[in-house]
Amino acid sequence: MFRGGQTLLTVIAVSRSGAVDLRILNSVVKNNICTASVMADKFKLPERYGAGEKSVWVEYIQLASEYKPKVNLGQGFPDYHAPDHVTKNLAEITTGDNPLLNQYTRGFGHPRLVESLSKLYSPLVGRQINPQNEILVTSGAYEALYSAILGHVDTSDEVIVIEPFFDCYEFMIKCAGGTPRFIPLKPKPSECGTQTSAQWVLDPEELKSLFNSRTKMIILNTPHNPVGKVFTMEELEMIADLCKKFNVLCVSDEVYEWMVYAPKKHIRIATLPDMWDRTITIGSAGKTFSVTGWKTGWAYGPEALMRNLQVVHQNCVYTCSTPIQEAIARSLEFEISRRDSPDCYLTALARELLPKRDFLVKSLTENGFLPYVPEGGYFIVADWTKLGGKIDLSKESDRHADYRFTKKFAKEAGVLTIPPSAFYSEQNKCLGENFARFCFIKKDENLALADKLMKEWNAKQ
Ligand code: PMP
Ligand code: GLN
Repeated sequence: MFRGGQTLLTVIAVSRSGAVDLRILNSVVKNNICTASVMADKFKLPERYGAGEKSVWVEYIQLASEYKPKVNLGQGFPDYHAPDHVTKNLAEITTGDNPLLNQYTRGFGHPRLVESLSKLYSPLVGRQINPQNEILVTSGAYEALYSAILGHVDTSDEVIVIEPFFDCYEFMIKCAGGTPRFIPLKPKPSECGTQTSAQWVLDPEELKSLFNSRTKMIILNTPHNPVGKVFTMEELEMIADLCKKFNVLCVSDEVYEWMVYAPKKHIRIATLPDMWDRTITIGSAGKTFSVTGWKTGWAYGPEALMRNLQVVHQNCVYTCSTPIQEAIARSLEFEISRRDSPDCYLTALARELLPKRDFLVKSLTENGFLPYVPEGGYFIVADWTKLGGKIDLSKESDRHADYRFTKKFAKEAGVLTIPPSAFYSEQNKCLGENFARFCFIKKDENLALADKLMKEWNAKQ
């Protein structure tokens, strides 16, 4: 009598007596529930994706559009223009004389871009990087991570992940069938009163205990999101020694490589003795040139390792946007040509960000937070718990206190931030709950507005 796909309303509408027959209604409801549950069982999200079902980015970008916070210090992107030459390059390319610059380009990376990446990085890693087979251009650093992880991790492999971690690492490892093994950075007490990201350290014994014959990879992120830690030579040596001892790959996520505040220096783990052969390094044009919407990144490393990334890339993305790659190539060429000048954006960026960092650190401290001054990147992690008595979180329903705090704070103070427990594994989420992450690559006037809003909020409590 009923065909699959008929809705309840259709069935009621065709009932001959014109009255609703309860037996028919019951059977339709039963059938529909049954079909729904059979379908739900078969078409549920595959088990291995479980870790990625909830996304802090999806949720907080939605919140930004709902709450309309007066200042958004959440997702990491600048609210001001990239350098002029970068955006002008793209405008010129798309309407310029060469129609081919709007068509497909070489799959593993636009020739001009891989050439310029090789020119940029070869002196930094102390060896000639082959642009043809040692560099892969990807759809953002996200896809570089995806290709590196999916290209190397097999079922039964273990991958060591340092917490807090950029949230997609866990999803990608599980997607590949691997098992993440987590180790948290723990903040040790400050020796000088000022708190800095350098206090967040690994326990060497705990790290050692995670390495075994099943370990395929460790993911390093320096400068670190969200803490802002820049790993020291000693820390990198400890990681490198374990990688060599246990024959493990290092995927080094260095998207914030140009945002390091003196006297700290960014060290590429690929440059440590015998590490080139076992390291894949990842960068991002979005972060390098303050154009996060361009979603172009890259990975570089030895040919033998890069081959596996190429296989993943050629079967899921194949080739990235040509005009954007050409624009990044021209922009890099320009920056390389003025590499020694203080105007070079690769140097100027950190100089431009430093007063913003210091302004926000001061403002947070004055407003009752306990910030850790970041040595790199453009985020500040700050403990909010001293404000606990001033904010009523009892009506917020989230499981983790940092989600409750950041949502209530956005609603009351008008300043949106990110809850760091999103950067921890399920078992360690409590380690992130006392913090909120603030992004400071924002116009001075917006940082000043955030300060004003926080002061007004504090005065009202
Ligand atoms: N890694 C880290 C640590 C990040 O913070 C981000 C966000 N920029 C990415 C990778 C992804 O970068 P992209 O926007 O180039 O995909
Ligand atoms: N990396 C940026 C951040 O941490 C953006 C993340 C994203 O958009 N998924 O805020």
